Amino acid sequence: MERTQIKDVFAKKGEVELQGWVHDTRDLSKIRFLVLKDVTGRIQTIGIKGETSEEVFDLMDKVPRESAVKIIGELKDSKQAPGGKEVLIKELEIIAEAEQPLPIDVSDHSKTELPKRLDNRFLDLHRERTQAIFKIQSTMMQAYREFMIQEGAVEAVFPSIIGSSSEGGTETFKMKYFEKTAFLSQSCQLYKQMLACSMEKVFTIFSVWRAEKHNTIRHLNEARQFDYEEGFADEFKVMKVMGECVQYIVKKILEERKSELELLDVKLKVPKIKYLTFEEVDELMKKNKTPMEKYDLTNEAEGKLDDLFPDTIVFVHDWPLAKKPFYIMPKDKKDSKGNQLSCGFDAIYKGIELSSGGQRIHIPDLLVERLKVNNLNPKDFKGYIDSFRYGAPPHAGWGMGLERLTMMVLGLKNIREGVLFPRDRDRLTP
Ligand code: ATP
Ligand code: MG
Repeated sequence: MERTQIKDVFAKKGEVELQGWVHDTRDLSKIRFLVLKDVTGRIQTIGIKGETSEEVFDLMDKVPRESAVKIIGELKDSKQAPGGKEVLIKELEIIAEAEQPLPIDVSDHSKTELPKRLDNRFLDLHRERTQAIFKIQSTMMQAYREFMIQEGAVEAVFPSIIGSSSEGGTETFKMKYFEKTAFLSQSCQLYKQMLACSMEKVFTIFSVWRAEKHNTIRHLNEARQFDYEEGFADEFKVMKVMGECVQYIVKKILEERKSELELLDVKLKVPKIKYLTFEEVDELMKKNKTPMEKYDLTNEAEGKLDDLFPDTIVFVHDWPLAKKPFYIMPKDKKDSKGNQLSCGFDAIYKGIELSSGGQRIHIPDLLVERLKVNNLNPKDFKGYIDSFRYGAPPHAGWGMGLERLTMMVLGLKNIREGVLFPRDRDRLTP
């Protein structure tokens, strides 16, 4: 007999073979219930004293929760059973027994704290709620790819080990690379720019490593980014692409992951898009008595933007040059206080920075000047600068955190909920 996944069982009749895990068992002395689960759903199976073989009936009482089992049985209509069908067990075989006690509470509303659940992620992944998060994340990645392919972008992969710490600003992890020192990449910035200057539209899902000693609910030391870069484009062109991309991703989740959203009790809406200059945000915050940094948004300001514009991706552009990385194109424009502006932007969604991006510098001399202003040595960036000497057009792009997007879309309280195997300051395993 062939195995049927639970989602397909409800349309069947007669005898079926199921393989999955024991979610729950109940003993009403003459009747025993075993709720079986697989990745597609759950079904109630029953044994009846006198009708079911004694051996199977006994085993139903002994099989530990979360064990992998094989069941052969007869499908029966049942008004009480969820889904309207149950399986009268004929054969029950333990494929792999789960040792007891289980290291964590795997019930739907687990009482185990997150760190312990993460220590035992392999078992936490038996839970429907945990699976729902990663099914939705899988849809996000798939939708991102679909959208980008429709945009005509080329998917690329880039090296993660680099010879010099690429951007300055963020701390990198150093490593020994034969006789040399190498670094783990903190972004694919420089590589995707080279591609935008040749293949025009490029996208990737890229792992980044940041050696910062964060201890927040929104930072990881290893994160994944959706990266996009486009040639012959400015920041407004790529903000539009990003807004449409996130809208596409959310629509896909709404279409394909309805039951997972329900299970997680997430009321998701396709986000609206809003554009504000940094100075407009500054004025809004003054009006709302919310603190701001001189050249940056505070966490409070990001939260306030969500209060003022719920379910909206707010693109904050015309950002002061002083707080943007060296490769962001300066703007020939100042704000009312005389601060020079840049072609850089941040996108704020549900009160957190979802993405940073902007138009990049494609003019070698300007790049040298901006490196110096940022106390970086142009000699360390020679290869990068030289790549713009041979017909490099203006170009722009962005990087958007996959785990950040997961966190915001699902309203997770901690970004670690949205990573299968998080790497943070204290966690290197599993
Ligand atoms: P933040 O200011 O929130 O620390 P950042 O400005 O340092 O982030 P960028 O270099 O702009 O980050 O990276 C682009 C995007 O990648 C961010 O907007 C965010 O979505 C995501 N990201 C960056 N750093 C992290 C991190 N440490 N953990 C999780 N996601 C991150
Ligand atoms: Mg940023």
